[in-house]
This record gives sequence, C-alpha cells and structure tokens, in this order.
Amino acid sequence: MSDNQIISVKEILELEASNQKVEVKGWIRNKRGSKTTSFLSINDGSTIKTLQVIAEDQIINEATIKDITTGCCVQINGILKKSIGANQRSELFAKKIKILGLADANEYPLQPKKHSLEFLREKAHLRFRTNTFSAVFRLRHALTFAVHKFFNDKGFVNIHTPIITGADAEGAGEMFQVTNLNLEDTPIVDGKVDYTKDFFNIKTNLTVSGQLEAELGALSLGQVYTFGPTFRAENSNTSRHLSEFWMIEPEVAFADLEENMDLAEEFLKYCIQYCITNCEDDLRFLDSRLANEEKSLKKEERSEMGLLERLQFVIENDFERLTYREAIDILRNSKPNKKKKFKYIIEGFGSDLQSEHERYLVEKKFKKPLIISDYPKGVKAFYMKQNEDGETVRAMDILFPQIGEIIGGSQREEDLNKLSNRMEEMEICKEELWWYLETRKFGTCVHSGFGLGFERLIMFVTGMKNIRDVIPFPRTPQNADF
Ligand code: ATP
Ligand code: MN
Repeated sequence: MSDNQIISVKEILELEASNQKVEVKGWIRNKRGSKTTSFLSINDGSTIKTLQVIAEDQIINEATIKDITTGCCVQINGILKKSIGANQRSELFAKKIKILGLADANEYPLQPKKHSLEFLREKAHLRFRTNTFSAVFRLRHALTFAVHKFFNDKGFVNIHTPIITGADAEGAGEMFQVTNLNLEDTPIVDGKVDYTKDFFNIKTNLTVSGQLEAELGALSLGQVYTFGPTFRAENSNTSRHLSEFWMIEPEVAFADLEENMDLAEEFLKYCIQYCITNCEDDLRFLDSRLANEEKSLKKEERSEMGLLERLQFVIENDFERLTYREAIDILRNSKPNKKKKFKYIIEGFGSDLQSEHERYLVEKKFKKPLIISDYPKGVKAFYMKQNEDGETVRAMDILFPQIGEIIGGSQREEDLNKLSNRMEEMEICKEELWWYLETRKFGTCVHSGFGLGFERLIMFVTGMKNIRDVIPFPRTPQNADF
C-alpha cells in the first residue's frame, strides 16, 4: 500500500492494523476526552461504524481540537494501530488534522443523542448524517441494486416509461396535471381550457403507473420491467402513502396469474435475501433500533418477531395463497366482524378489503405474507382478465405484516372484445387508449404483471414505520420541502 492512502472508514476498519499510515476524510460524530487526549469518532457514510481517532495534545494543537465539534468535516492523517479497547479492532493515532468545514456547535441541530424521527424529518438535509438514516439509505441503494440484478439475471429488459403522460384513464382524479399555461390567464374556449394552446397540445399529467406502456414492451420483448417515479394526488395522509413514490412493474408475456404470483414471491424473497447477505451491519443496527423503539409500546402493540427474525421468516416460508371469496368467509366469521370491532363490517362478496381487514388476515389469522386473488371486478381496474364466473377478475394483491398491501398485480385481459366491453362499462375512453387496444388486435397473448411499491418494501426491510422515513425527500399532501 502506498503512503497515506485515502480510504473509506469501511475499508480502514477491515484492515489488519500494522502501524500503517492512512488518511481519512469524514464528519465528526462525537468528541470526548481528557486534558491530554481527545477521542474523536468519525464517519464518512461508507458504513454504520465509526472510526475512533486519538488526538494527543502533544501532536495536535489545542486550537484545532477546540474547533472540532459534532458535525464538522475533517481530514485526518495518522497511524493505524491495533486497539486495546474492546469496542473496535483498530484506531487511528492522528498526526495531522485539517478542519475542512466547521460546524458551529451553537447552531448545528444534530447532537450525539437520540433525536425523534419527526424532528429529523424537518432536518431532511442533515438527517443523512444520523445512524438510522444512513443505514436506511444504504439499504435503499442495496434494494435498488437487487431489483435490477434480479431482473437482469432472468433476462428481463428494463424499459423507461414516460413520466409525463397524456392518458388519464388509470388515474381518475388522482393525477397531477403538467402544464406551462399561464394559470392566471388561461386560454378559454366555450368555457373550457383550450389545451391546444398547452405545451403538448393536449392535457397532460404525471404518471400514476407505467403498466400500460410496459405491456406494450412485454408483447414484443417478452419480459420487461419498469422502475421509476410515480405520482398520486390522493389526499391520503397515512404512514404508507406518498404523493411521489417509486414503483417496480414487471410485465411478462405468456405468464398467467399463478406464474405472476410465483415471480412476485421469488422476487420479494430475493430482495430481502440480498440485504441480509450484503447489509449485515446496517440490518443489525436497525434490528436493535426497532427493538428499542418497541420497548416504549404497550405489550400487545409490540411485534412478535425482531426485524432480522421477521426477514428470515419471510424468506423461509411459503406465502399463504387464498382467494378473495375465502378471505371474505374468514373475515365474515371473524371475532372483530361479529363483535362489530371493524369500522367497515364485512357483509359478503363485493366488499372492498380495507386495511383493517388486511391487517387482521396477515397479522392475526395467518401471521405470514398473503396473496389474495380473484377479486370482484367492481373493485379492480378495467384491464384485468375476467374470470369465467363473470363476477371476479384474475387480480392478486400481496399483503405483508406491518405494511399491508405491498404488491398489486393481475393477469391482463388479452381478448379484444372483452377488454373493449369492459372499458365501455367502466366509461374508460377507448379513443385515448387506441394504442393499448391495438396490442389486443395484433398478436395478442396471455400476459401478466404487477406493481411493487418500492418504499413499502424498504419499510419492511428496515422496520421503519413511516414511509416518510425511507425516501430522502418525501412529498406528501401539504409538504414538498427540500
Ligand atoms: P393502497 O390500497 O395501499 O392505496 P393501491 O391499491 O392504490 O394501494 P396500486 O395502484 O395497486 O396500489 O399500486 C401498486 C403498489 O404501489 C401498491 O401495492 C403499493 O405497494 C404501492 N403504492 C400505491 N400507492 C402508493 C402511495 N401513495 N405511496 C406509496 N406506495 C404506494
Ligand atoms: Mn392507493
């Protein structure tokens, strides 16, 4: 190794310490010490761990030590020695410390103590510097990578579907409009906005899903997937909804609903296993963070399993598969339904499953991930394949403990007539989707796909309970800060 090699904290901590010279750059997490020696912990984001730096006042001048505070950025040259302390394998004896960026202790909002997640949301520009958020965002990266690796290894083609779309069939009222018209002086013809004057000559919105375009890809490339941002102007201020979130949507030609479920189950297990294999330190940290957080909860509110245990459990067990009708039977005869504890009482076929019902099935009844299929056509989208019974469609939702719905998917209606009739019944504009209908006219085939809400998967893997804490800069109703 060359003299003074600049390496990351992660790499340094993996080295066998042998009095070699190293240089490290990072941010101070904590400083403590005596008159003669200061102990600095430094982190550079490469790992959850910090490097302990020993600064002796004989070598490092007092003024520098004094300026070092939590949050300041430093460059340190020193000698890496074996540690006698039990907490770390090695420590860095500073020879030279250069302060790259001061952080005034009177103003810097993060201190080496526990801050609430709500407080940190207001400091989203700095929360990356905390253990919790650095772990979450390294896991978010690992999951992104795992998603691409999973599909790439299977021969899927990643396609980039448009973010600005002219079709609003899917989004009915939940879309963000995109325009460069002057809203103070909109062109009006016959009392209506004249979109021929708008940028694209038509009314456009931000996409709510890349599925319809992904289907076009699948009917030629065979197996495709999208992975992109999705926008929903739904006014649901919950811990599981964002106005801007990322969605992964595979679409597979010749696959029926069963094969679609198999793919989804394999995919989720793969992503979780990838994190267990590659992010051990971060997961261990989040596991104990969650255990700590749950200590303050009432006994019945605590989870039965720890984070790592839960992840392992999901990988090792088959997801429970049942039909909507079976789910309804279970719910109708369940205690909370009979005792009217549910807000929405299940009467029978046709009721939409609310999150209270989903939670009952996943957390109380089966205690494992569930795949519910064959929903009534009335609660699902127009493009889902109609079953022989005339009442249900080949849809499937995957429900996870703690999260609720994580995936929604279906086999698609490939029959032009059936699709076309269903669109008319549901008053979906066929003219607008002429291109979608043409795939059923020219070389149609059985095909299926699903959408995974990326942030919901991250919530499950990290144990974070609010979706705002797994995306760097959350967008929710009344909030687009940063
Ligand atoms: P929900 O019933 O939870 O609102 P949905 O039925 O509207 O979900 P889909 O339209 O099927 O969801 O979208 C596919 C997936 O995208 C969902 O399974 C979920 O994981 C995720 N998802 C949907 N809406 C949001 C949102 N507002 N924020 C984050 N993820 C979302
Ligand atoms: Mn929704």
